[in-house]
Amino acid sequence: MQGELHIHNTLSRKKEIFKPINPPYVGLYVCGPTVYSDVHLGNCRTFISFDIIYRYLDHLGYKVRYVRNITDAGHLEGDSDIGEDKISKKARLEQMEPMEIVQKYTVGFHEVMNMFNLLPPSIEPTATGHISEQIEMVKEIIASGFGYESNGSVYFDVEKFSRENNYGVISGRTLDDQLENTRDLDGQDEKRGRLDFALWIAAKPEHIMRWPSPWGWGFPGWHLECSAMSTKYLGQTFDIHGGGMDLIPTHHTNEIAQSVACNHAPPVNYWIHTNMLTVNGVKMSKSLDNWILPVELFTGRQLAKDSPLATPSQAILGDKHPLLEKGFSPMTVRFFVLQTHYSSTLDFSNSALTASEKGFQRLMNAINLLDKLKTSDKTTSDIAALEKSCYAAMNDDFNSPVVIAQLFEGTRIVNSVNDGHETITAADLALLKKIFHTFTYEILGLKNESTGGSGNALPESLMQLILRMRADARTKKDFSMSDLIRDELAKAGVEVKDGKEGTSWIYKG
Ligand code: AMP
Ligand code: ZN
Repeated sequence: MQGELHIHNTLSRKKEIFKPINPPYVGLYVCGPTVYSDVHLGNCRTFISFDIIYRYLDHLGYKVRYVRNITDAGHLEGDSDIGEDKISKKARLEQMEPMEIVQKYTVGFHEVMNMFNLLPPSIEPTATGHISEQIEMVKEIIASGFGYESNGSVYFDVEKFSRENNYGVISGRTLDDQLENTRDLDGQDEKRGRLDFALWIAAKPEHIMRWPSPWGWGFPGWHLECSAMSTKYLGQTFDIHGGGMDLIPTHHTNEIAQSVACNHAPPVNYWIHTNMLTVNGVKMSKSLDNWILPVELFTGRQLAKDSPLATPSQAILGDKHPLLEKGFSPMTVRFFVLQTHYSSTLDFSNSALTASEKGFQRLMNAINLLDKLKTSDKTTSDIAALEKSCYAAMNDDFNSPVVIAQLFEGTRIVNSVNDGHETITAADLALLKKIFHTFTYEILGLKNESTGGSGNALPESLMQLILRMRADARTKKDFSMSDLIRDELAKAGVEVKDGKEGTSWIYKG
């Protein structure tokens, strides 16, 4: 029934049949967030896209090891070798330890991922936790002849690499084209060639995050962490590597060069890149002032200027958001994201979200009706064909908008049977329920926010408010109140879990 999965591979620029190296195991690596500020809706789009890829591979029966890193060192402001380390700079501005910055935004990131109902990755490694692996990789690249030391920093010799390898294999750009379009950057006098990039960067006196290395005190270059951590957890060549397409020309180009220099083999068989979320046609970006935070979307209000935290449960909100007429629930936003294929641009707008809200409600209403439908001895629509079309869409490079269109066809059938215009047998009704359950909840990762469905009985925003009240009670040492809240939630089927990263909850039905 499930058919063959086809994936658009950035390397070949074609759709290819997916063949894992060592089935049923699949290695999946996705570049994670740089935790120096809150994730915006653009970042969320990319992570939601990979969530359905992970979910579908799992549904097909693969045993997926999903690695998504946390960048907590080495990512400089200019996205290449210029400027200050993003985390160190934020630490200086917020007068905090760099690791406080990392912790604060990692907790916020997890909370947002949880609200959007993303499954956690199998491993979430940090750059700072893998310094020795990165130093070893730099040593190997030097030994292979493609790395050289200069004033305590180590650079990758791109021109030398290009004599034997295709440096632009993933971007499709020639060396001449890249040379023509590259500005002179910081540390240029230390480099042999203009395209050379840093593997290890000597720490300036004011740089706080630093480690000892054979080349003196310094810190790793941003591209190196993903090569080191993907090799460590998935092997020298693994199945799938993903990220936003903005990472292709530099970050992923350099990741490939580093791994080839060390292992003499391409590191990845299938590269998947998500397209950008835009606002009025412009990429949503932390460096531009056009980013929208999840908490702003959920509430329709702007984050207050003096809000110390933007984490949804702790944010202080200010005025109405100029781009939003109202707030939209996390599942409406997830549905909005999935209504466009991951490889197309997705333009954010209040009107598009309003349309998604209506569509999502229509789908949820149909699911709520399923248990109330009367069966008959004949089915008028072809339910088996509907299931086939849903699989065909997912197999066609994870085509979520086409899956949603098929679920709307299912919705039409449900409403039609409910109105008495069509009939359905008990067996076909069971199949229809299975289709809705599998594709809506399991694969697209949506939850029925109003009734429970496969997900939550209580809206997330309400749950966060209740948990906040419980946290307040605990701070005031009012333990009888905090226990009462926990016990009452348990009666409603909600289990509260207090962990290192704060309080979370799950619906136990
Ligand atoms: P960063 O924290 O900036 O390293 O980004 C984390 C992930 O979000 C990367 O895979 C980026 O490619 C992706 N990303 C950043 N901006 C956008 C956007 N506007 N739309 C979609 N993905 C994005
Ligand atoms: Zn990466």
